Amino acid sequence: MRLFECGTLVPGCEWHTRADNDAEIVRRVVEHLRNAHGETVIRENMVDNIKARIVDENKVGA
Ligand SMILES: [Zn+2]
Repeated sequence: MRLFECGTLVPGCEWHTRADNDAEIVRRVVEHLRNAHGETVIRENMVDNIKARIVDENKVGA
């Protein structure tokens, strides 16, 4: 399972999401950024920033 924590991108945000694949994570994160952080324009480098912060959940805290 893959994990993304919004706090790694937006300090202080507690939101996080899990999915089987990175594409689904990116889709959910973009939606969250729009809804919660008012990011109406998602730039290409934002997608790269998201992908760079997706981690394998079973490695977290191990
Ligand atoms: Zn957030």
